[in-house]
Amino acid sequence: MTRDQYTFTNPAELYADFEPEQQSQPEPGLDAELEPKADLGETTYRGTGRLTGRKALITGADSGIGAATAIAFAREGADVAMSYLPEEEKDARRIASILQDAGANVLTLPGDLRDPDYCRSLVDRAVSGLGGLDILVNNGGKQVYNEDLTTLTDEQFDDTFKTNVYAMFWITKAALPHLAAGATIINTTSVQAYKPSEILVDYASTKATINTFTKALAQQLAPKGIRVNAIAPGPIWTPLQVTEGQPQSKIAEFGKQTPLGRAGQPAELAPAYVFLASAESSYVIGETLNVNGGTPTP
Ligand code: NAD
Ligand code: MG
Repeated sequence: MTRDQYTFTNPAELYADFEPEQQSQPEPGLDAELEPKADLGETTYRGTGRLTGRKALITGADSGIGAATAIAFAREGADVAMSYLPEEEKDARRIASILQDAGANVLTLPGDLRDPDYCRSLVDRAVSGLGGLDILVNNGGKQVYNEDLTTLTDEQFDDTFKTNVYAMFWITKAALPHLAAGATIINTTSVQAYKPSEILVDYASTKATINTFTKALAQQLAPKGIRVNAIAPGPIWTPLQVTEGQPQSKIAEFGKQTPLGRAGQPAELAPAYVFLASAESSYVIGETLNVNGGTPTP
């Protein structure tokens, strides 16, 4: 079923034809190889000028939630700097051309978020290439399941924290001197921050950290007029899920345990990012906006 953010339909019946089968890709995975394809809003997202002239940096902008957000931002009038891994060039090229078709200035800035020098240079290149920075979306992330803590390698624990937490710190710290009043920072946390799975000990811990980082920093920056918020997705169909984000045997049932009874699509996240990035959310600070199909959260 096609949908857009203005059509009223039964949300329990949306994407009723979505039936993923077992599949796996090596990390970081490609949207191009996902079956069925995720809905990034390519053919449906309609902008109304809510981000006209804003300049955004989005990590993990090549695929999934970050790509859907990039498309929405561009169609709302923003210019976009995209961060992603070099292996994701194919996905990034496709998204960049969709953004350009929307009239956006686009920067493609591949690199590894685990590297602090890349994170700092990413901000510098985004600021100089776009002519400033108004919106930072920390969205890149690593999720690899592990069933037994005694086999969770130090390397994976470190990589998960570097990608999900340290990169957010390095990038935000480098961005702050460039952000003026009215700027917004949006961090991607997860329902895992509140309802951790037993097989995602490292990942869930990073997501709780992101949530708390967001709420602490939001108070520090509010007097400067810079708003910090988070979005907590539930189960969303993206490459993260088929690159050992969870056991393959669970893919067919993915998202069915939510009150809505289905997985979400990246296109269903993008409007939430637009809301927090735009001036519409001027009194929303330190909030975690849950987009999770109805799972209760604290
Ligand atoms: P995704 O695979 O499409 O996006 C994750 C992106 O992170 C990748 O595209 C990649 O560009 C980037 N990334 C990962 N490791 C990197 C590294 N070392 N250096 C540079 N970039 C790196 O999957 P997604 O689900 O859209 O993930 C986006 C965010 O949403 C993540 O923070 C994830 O934790 C979060 N999230 C996803 C779900 C879900 O069900 N899909 C649920 C809750 C939260
Ligand atoms: Mg990707």
